[in-house]
Amino acid sequence: MRSPLIIGGGPAGTAAAAVIAAAGCEVRLIERTSGPTDKVCGDFLSSGALALLEMLKVDPLVLGGASISVLRLVYQRHVAETRLPFPAVGLTRRSLDEALLHNAASRGAELLRGCAVQRLETTHDGFTAQTTALGPLPATAVFLATGKHDLRGAPRPHGADEPVGLKMYYELMPDQRAAIEDCIELVLFPGGYAGLQLVEQGRAVLCLMVSAKRFRTAGASWDGLLESFLAAAPHLVARLSGATPCLDRPLAVAAIPYGYLHRAAPAAPPNLFRLGDQACVIPSLAGDGVAIALASGTLAARTWLQREGAAAYDRLLQHRIRRALRLASLVHSGCTAPALQPLVAALARAGPGLMRLVADATRIATA
Ligand SMILES: Cc1cc2nc3c(=O)[nH]c(=O)nc-3n(C[C@H](O)[C@H](O)[C@H](O)COP(=O)(O)OP(=O)(O)OC[C@H]3O[C@@H](n4cnc5c(N)ncnc54)[C@H](O)[C@@H]3O)c2cc1C
Repeated sequence: MRSPLIIGGGPAGTAAAAVIAAAGCEVRLIERTSGPTDKVCGDFLSSGALALLEMLKVDPLVLGGASISVLRLVYQRHVAETRLPFPAVGLTRRSLDEALLHNAASRGAELLRGCAVQRLETTHDGFTAQTTALGPLPATAVFLATGKHDLRGAPRPHGADEPVGLKMYYELMPDQRAAIEDCIELVLFPGGYAGLQLVEQGRAVLCLMVSAKRFRTAGASWDGLLESFLAAAPHLVARLSGATPCLDRPLAVAAIPYGYLHRAAPAAPPNLFRLGDQACVIPSLAGDGVAIALASGTLAARTWLQREGAAAYDRLLQHRIRRALRLASLVHSGCTAPALQPLVAALARAGPGLMRLVADATRIATA
């Protein structure tokens, strides 16, 4: 049986499933959630993501997404602004991922929803995925697209004290909502940064990236963190004044391995394709994680359809993302180190063209 198994139905897994199914091949996609779900993500769709979504015939604007054409960098009371060198859209992952799952299923992918893979085992002729509800699933090829979550039997290496990501949706006061229309705001605070932008129905998403140390110092809670960083970010105090949170509690994910780029061990199984965050984790401020997920899913599927193995796919993917990943990691370091934040803000104010250049150079090559 040549039917591959895709584990994880985020942008990476669904893109791979859609491409394989559209080529007329059988493919199974297993996704642990049973319905629409919010995810820790800034909900920013870059030009790369938009191009790949267009290829998949998923239109973020039809789904209600908000256009974004301006980048605003904020540090304390200093604000620098520039037009983005590419179009972008704010769309919740709840809407995007659901549309991508439906898209893959409509092309003929078999969707196994509400069932998780607990462990991946390597066998003499492929793999067995041990699942929560469907028992063992054999496969000759596996596309590992579990995103931020590592799977037993196929872990990623992790460093010590990796950062934490948190997110909340808000109904802002009308004047504050109007102030961020068409804009992505990147707000620096000690130990991290926040992204603020609009998504569907005029809601705003606030997504924070913070060092583990800073998070612990703030009592390891959203409220503690908000309180501590609002003191250093008067801009956000104004934005959130009178705002109503839209979720019962914030979403959080720990131990994000920013800068990670998968390098297969020489003895790695030839048909284990790592996609999306399982292949590469670009710092959030680049806003290109979804583009990488879609690009890697598409590329892995095409490589497999051409009967080539994971090593060929790894080489092609690395070639496309390495440069953007390096630069994004450098900018991320500057934007999180308290000693460098004033310099980053000064450079941004002195040369908005530089912000545009950096925004452009942190895009991955999608084709
Ligand atoms: C704080 C933060 C902000 C970010 N902001 C942005 C942004 O604004 N723009 C952007 O482009 N990128 C952003 N990113 C990156 C982006 O979220 C990821 O790169 C992207 O989601 C990766 O897609 P994926 O398909 O690899 O994984 P995911 O989107 O994580 O999807 C993985 C899927 O696998 C499923 N799954 C997991 N484990 C199992 C299992 N065992 N069995 C079955 N199913 C399983 C999950 O339910 C999920 O649906 C951000 C990341 C962080 C941490």
